[in-house]
Parts: sequence; C-alpha cells; structure tokens
Amino acid sequence: MFDAQPAASHFIDGKYVESDGAEIVVTYAYTGEVIARLHEATPDLVDLAVASAARAQKEWAARAPVDRGRVLTRAAMLIRERNDALARLETLDTGKPIQETICADWPSGADSLEFFGGLAPTVTGEMIPLGGDFAYTIREALGVCAGIGAWNYPSQIACWKAAPALAMGNAMVFKPSEMTPLGALKLAEILIEAGAPAGLFNVVQGRGAVGAQLASHPGIAKVSLTGSVPTGAKVYQTAAAGMKHVTMELGGKSPLIVFEDANLEDAVGAAMLANFYSSGQICSNGTRVFVQKSLKTRFLARLKERTEAIIMGDPLDEATQFGPLISAEQHAKVKAYIERAQAEGGTLVTGGGSSEALFVQPTIFADVTDTMTLAREEVFGPVMAVLDFDTEDEVIARANDTQFGLAAGVFTADLTRGHRVIGRLEAGTCWINAYNLTPVQMPFGAVKSSGLGRENSRAAIEHYSQVKSVYVGMGSVESPY
Ligand code: NDP
Repeated sequence: MFDAQPAASHFIDGKYVESDGAEIVVTYAYTGEVIARLHEATPDLVDLAVASAARAQKEWAARAPVDRGRVLTRAAMLIRERNDALARLETLDTGKPIQETICADWPSGADSLEFFGGLAPTVTGEMIPLGGDFAYTIREALGVCAGIGAWNYPSQIACWKAAPALAMGNAMVFKPSEMTPLGALKLAEILIEAGAPAGLFNVVQGRGAVGAQLASHPGIAKVSLTGSVPTGAKVYQTAAAGMKHVTMELGGKSPLIVFEDANLEDAVGAAMLANFYSSGQICSNGTRVFVQKSLKTRFLARLKERTEAIIMGDPLDEATQFGPLISAEQHAKVKAYIERAQAEGGTLVTGGGSSEALFVQPTIFADVTDTMTLAREEVFGPVMAVLDFDTEDEVIARANDTQFGLAAGVFTADLTRGHRVIGRLEAGTCWINAYNLTPVQMPFGAVKSSGLGRENSRAAIEHYSQVKSVYVGMGSVESPY
C-alpha cells in the first residue's frame, strides 16, 4: 500500500546511483509492510562518493560565504514548503506519529539550515597586533566530513550535521542508519535544487561496515557520529588512527530531578515528554526521574493518570500520540528491560504490555534504586524509572553516578536552587523547568561517555572548521646569521 521506493539507493555527484551490495529492506514499523528495497554501497562506491565530495568541496569552499549561506537558506525554504510530504515519509521510515514528524523532525532540520546559512557570512578571524608586525587568523574548512546517523531522528540528524559542515565550506558524505535510509536522500535532492554543487552532499547506504569504511577513509577529514556509546568508542578509535576530527553524539541515562516545590503539572508533563516522545527513542531523554519523597504520591498519581490517557495507534492518524518502536530487535530489547526491572524489584505503576505490532506501552516503574539495571543502562524505549530522594546533595551525587553525561533537568520553583543544582550536574545539555527543547541557537552535546563536540549554535562552527594563523612581517627580517 505504501511506496517509498527512491529512484536508487545512493545519491552521489548530484544523482541517484544504484549498487549491487547486500539488500536493505525498509519496512513501515506500524504494519511491517516493505516500503522500499535498497542496496548497500560497495567499497568502490564509497570511494567514488568521497572523491566526488572532494571535488565539490574545492569549488564550494572558494565561494563567498554569503553565497554558501544562500544555498542553505533556500534548502530550508524548500523543506518548509514540502514539510507535509517529508513528514509522511519520515513517519513511514521511522514509525513515529505524524503528529511529531510534522512539527519536530524536518522543521528542526530546516531551522538548522536556516541558522547556519545566516551564520556563514558572519564567521571571521582575528587580527592580532604585534607592534608593527601583526598576525591574523582564518577559519578554514576541514575538507570532506563523514556523517553517520542513528535511526531515531534520521532527517534531523542529517540536517544538523550537514548544515554547519556545509556552511563552513566542507562537503559531506552521509551514511544513514540502515533502518531509516530515506530522509537523507531527500535532503541530498533538495540541496541540489537549492544550488549546491553536485557531490557536495552525497548519501551512501549501508550497515556498520560502510560507516567504518568512512571513518577510516584517507579522504575523510572529520567523522560526526550520532549513535550508541559502544559504536562511538569504535568510530573514535578508527578516526584517531587517521588523526581525524570527531563529533560524537552518543547515548545517555539522563537525570530529571523534581523538587517538592515544582509545579506538579509541568513536572509530570516534562517527565512524560522526556520518556514517551518518539516512543522513548531519544538520546537526551530524562529516563531517571528523581522525585523528592514528599511529592512522590501526588506525582505518581498524576503521572499514571496522564500516561494512561496517551493515544497509541496508527502513526499516520493525526490524533495518534504514540507509535511503535523502530524494529523487532528494539522491541525485544525494551521488553527484556521491562522484565528485568520487574525481576529486580521495581514497582510497575502502569504499562509494561507490548504487542506484536512493535508497540510497547508507555511504562513507568517506581521505587527504582540506583543499582537496578533500569537505572544504569540506556533502554531507548518508553520505560520511565522513578527514583525517590530526600536532599539536594544526595540527589546530585546520585544523578552524577553514571558513565553518561548527555543531559539533565531540574524542576523547582526556587530559582537559585535551579541554577545551583544545574551547576553541579555532569551533563552537556541542561534544562531548568523544561525538558528536551533543543533550539538551534543553543549548543547541544555531551560530557563523559556520552560524547564530545557540540552540534547547533555558533559552537558547531568550531567543530567543522580549523584555524590557520598567518604572521605578517612588516619590517626587515632580523636574522642572527
Ligand atoms: P548505533 O550505534 O547502533 O548506530 C549508529 C550508526 O553507526 C548507524 O548508522 C550504524 O550503522 C553505524 N555504525 C555501526 N557500527 C559502526 C562502525 N563500526 N563504524 C562506523 N559506523 C558504524 O546506534 P543506533 O542507530 O542504534 O541509535 C541509537 C543510539 O543512538 C542510542 O544509543 C542513542 O542514545 C544514540 N543517539 C544519540 C543522539 C545524540 O545526539 N546524542 C541522538 C540520537 C541517538 P547501522 O545501524 O546501519 O548498522
């Protein structure tokens, strides 16, 4: 019934290209229906994509930054014009409700292209007076960057990586997750239509081996990965051997701390957003919800009531608020975490059920302790762990007791406490009385094992460029020889 078959599997040098690599079968998670059949890139094709990007990069980097910016802002405009169709494709590719994809996925990608398109001509170097002589700096492109994406926000991830890279004069070869290969091809088409040179943004499909080839490719100057911590460690190591730059956006087990003076409705709403949006498949989710003991009963009662009202169903129905998980593998993994949480003594507040159709109910466990698997490992599904706490010092220590450091949130009516607690949390991206809002103006990234580098904002510019220093002698050369 649904046909999302692209013209071919890959987009290289301005056109669709087919290969005879292993098949990638793309299914719509809600029905299990096959919506497209693609093929993995062969090593030769990956080489071709990198060579084409290298050619395009030379021409692109030589353009005035304002011209580069104009192409990106035009691409943003085209995305906005086509948002309805793109959102539908994203829903088919990921199984996420159209209610989400229409306002979150491509719109956030368009924001990124618009933001970096505007920023491109504002990036300048420094002039360093040296008393007669002087020096100046130039921010230059790195070259060809590789983007490797996860499956939860495939199009947003492609845009978040492409926009700052291209704005700074780089080219990109992007490998989407094999599970969600369709959105990045649309971005490649749109960039060409917006005026990008052929080869500037190439898409190659494939599984981990294609990503690994990119990470080790001598023609690649930087690798930007969004994925899990174990994959990040492998890619970082591979990139290090070639002395490549990296950005790593990896997994998390982020704390969301709710103090007793918090606005109850806001805190409950945020905890739900932080665990059930995209069926919990979000890296920055606040999956350890620490609730101060005096608020626990009221918090859990309201949380249960609102969670049980979530509308699950057909992702293409605009009323649906909650869709299936991405794959049978993820479904099995999440179910196993639920069973383990029960076996380890968690109190099931609501949910826990699952269906053949890859749904897992929004699930809440209370009385979770710090040592339980549910409090330590990333589930990447709709399973919230609620933990109790008494004091501020205690909760900060417990929140930080993890290898992860992507995000953190605090709900409190006490402004000074909000800032004080955030100041002590080990996380790259934090919210006070909000959660999971990631406007392009704000840096997004992690500390500890959750990654390094920053996406979005001016900060991303530094991760897609390098500084050249130029010393200018204005007098005669003083030489001892
Ligand atoms: P994976 O780590 O499994 O995969 C990420 C990407 O890397 C995929 O495209 C994958 O290919 C590719 N890959 C796998 N092995 C290698 C390798 N050896 N070398 C190069 N590339 C490789 O993550 P998932 O796709 O399962 O995504 C879920 C994870 O992503 C979660 O941990 C989540 O927290 C994290 N994430 C982080 C975000 C952030 O911004 N911090 C945002 C979104 C997700 P393929 O899958 O096709 O085999």
